[in-house]
Amino acid sequence: MSPRLLRTPAELRAACDAARASGSSRTVALVPTMGALHEGHLSLAREARRRAGFVVASVFVNPTQFGPSDDFTRYPRDLDGDVNKLAAAGVDAVFAPSPGDMYPPGDDTRVRVGAVAAPLEGTHRPGHFEGVATVVAKLFAIVGPCAAVFGRKDYQQLLVVRAMTRDLFLPVEIVGHPIVREPDGLAMSSRNAYLSPEERARALGIVRGLAAAGRLFAGGERSRVALEGAVRASVEPIATSIDYVEARDGDTLAALGDSVGAPAALLVACRVGTTRLIDNLVLGEDPVPVA
Ligand code: AMP
Repeated sequence: MSPRLLRTPAELRAACDAARASGSSRTVALVPTMGALHEGHLSLAREARRRAGFVVASVFVNPTQFGPSDDFTRYPRDLDGDVNKLAAAGVDAVFAPSPGDMYPPGDDTRVRVGAVAAPLEGTHRPGHFEGVATVVAKLFAIVGPCAAVFGRKDYQQLLVVRAMTRDLFLPVEIVGHPIVREPDGLAMSSRNAYLSPEERARALGIVRGLAAAGRLFAGGERSRVALEGAVRASVEPIATSIDYVEARDGDTLAALGDSVGAPAALLVACRVGTTRLIDNLVLGEDPVPVA
């Protein structure tokens, strides 16, 4: 069955209120996305389907989380295709507002994010997490009590959203979902569509580096320099530029000393050509990717 297409915050709120009012099995689950959906997003939608009686996916390319030199205008958009894919994943409603619906004239309030948002993406994309936290807070306020499913592909984003939800007492259960990869190991991303065939092949260096570090860790290696070095050895030859390759505390993203204990996250951001890609592996927790 085709999902209901909801265009305004008022429509979304009414649909979620009605679902909750219709009985205890009608719990609500939310899957926030920016569209151009791939199997990773759909895996989140199926997780939501397992958890709730009423599932809504949002499709919104959020302008406030893009910097001036980011790819906001050329970010891929395909609402019709997205709705068809979400229908197959069994979602009940798709929320696809316009920027003016989410940020009406006079809109002037932003969520100030804390320490977990400062390093890594926070350093390289100033203002990004303020935009993410603001739009997610708006979505949570419209939807109301729910479970919200986020991918661990955007590991720091998941921690930022968890911290915001905890600190603001938002009535939302945050669910983290494992990274979904292509058969050859590349983490699925809407931005992979920007890659030329040659860049797509080079991009595999990212997951190969993470896999090498994962194998070293499984074999007992605990030196931060050695583990980061294993990733760099694979990423440096293929990347046009590297923003970071870092092992950090898996819960707080605090910097680590010389020795890496579990859970620690190994996080990578680099450009292949002009396309910025991110990936990560939680050592001692995630299975070592096949790459
Ligand atoms: P985006 O549309 O890129 O903002 O992503 C929407 C949600 O899908 C976020 O929670 C992402 O972390 C998640 N996501 C994107 N790609 C993947 C992937 N390959 N595996 C798991 N989750 C993903």
